[in-house]
Amino acid sequence: MASPLTPRRKPSRRRAGSHLPPHHDNHETALYGIRQMLRGRTGYDAFPVSFRLIVLDTKLSVTRALQCLLANNVVSAPLWNSEKSAFAGMLTVLDIIHLIQYYYKSAVTYDNVKTDVEKFRLESLRDIEKELGVPEPTLLSDHPNSSMFDAAKLLIQTHARRLPLLDKDTETGHEVIVSVLTQYRLLKFIALNCPSEIQQLQHSLRKLKIGTYVSSSGISPFHPLATATLETPVSDVVHMFSERSISAVPIIDEDGIVVDMYETVDVMTLVRLGVYQNLDLTVSEALKTRSPDFLGVVICTASDSLRTLLQLIKKRRVHRLVVVEGEEEEKQGGKKGRLLGIITLSDVLRYVIGEPDIGEGVEEPQPPRQPSS
Ligand code: AMP
Repeated sequence: MASPLTPRRKPSRRRAGSHLPPHHDNHETALYGIRQMLRGRTGYDAFPVSFRLIVLDTKLSVTRALQCLLANNVVSAPLWNSEKSAFAGMLTVLDIIHLIQYYYKSAVTYDNVKTDVEKFRLESLRDIEKELGVPEPTLLSDHPNSSMFDAAKLLIQTHARRLPLLDKDTETGHEVIVSVLTQYRLLKFIALNCPSEIQQLQHSLRKLKIGTYVSSSGISPFHPLATATLETPVSDVVHMFSERSISAVPIIDEDGIVVDMYETVDVMTLVRLGVYQNLDLTVSEALKTRSPDFLGVVICTASDSLRTLLQLIKKRRVHRLVVVEGEEEEKQGGKKGRLLGIITLSDVLRYVIGEPDIGEGVEEPQPPRQPSS
């Protein structure tokens, strides 16, 4: 089904000698169509007919809040300051990582850690970031009537993975948390609503340079990728998460072959088991406690297309893909399965929406140039 917002093109003969190959044109037209579709839709359009929203009061202790996240099988929730009747930010896995990191670094004896964590209230989480010297998250939000294009732009500019959508209660004038627009929901919305545009996105991920890739000039073999092995202590991986603000680390063997992935959500399993202090266990030991619901690591090669990636997002809740060497690399002396890169939803969203100009927001999408006849 073609999107009604796709700019129609008059049938035209290509001018001899044009430097634009036909499918490059199609690619730009498809991106333009997707951006236009998002401009015409609001946050309200992205919500499913029925959904639940877990909101946590900032007076709750971290332990109670975690129990609530785990019981509801969610990894983040908006915070509510009931004294001010106002939205107070988000609780995310990264907050928990920072808390663990803080206790792991500062506790002389671990005897009191469990009771300390139990007393610790959500309202004090920002103090932990100050102590650790990591950036405090900005109090980001948008109105659900904003266009999805503007919401996506805000996510890209702020490097946030989710955008709380707030409205005003017309009677009390107080803020109301309506929903949270995640990168995943946005990309799935695109995948569902722009099937014909997505068909045109045939270029390879290698060509489009979507994601972060191993650089040959790096100081370590997989630079700038943060990686670990099955023997790496979980404390080192948690440190990488906290310091680099990343949410997953590929696990590789001695030949660089990807064997697994350790993700920030895996830390939640450790927290469920009460492990605030014993981060000396190895990745291999920690992975044994992983939930049986884990969907597995999604692997692709750089020859796969953006189309395939978006079609995958439509079908399953994927948050990142590990790019490994495939046949193409093997021909040049590479090894199948060796780590080549990582692609997260931020990378895909940034490509599809366009890179924001500093201080300017995302460049206005221009209609693709028509080849002259
Ligand atoms: P995220 O916030 O998880 O979407 O990732 C932010 C950026 O970091 C993206 O450009 C990713 O490609 C990149 N990234 C994610 N994981 C890693 C990693 N383990 N090592 C290096 N870069 C990463």
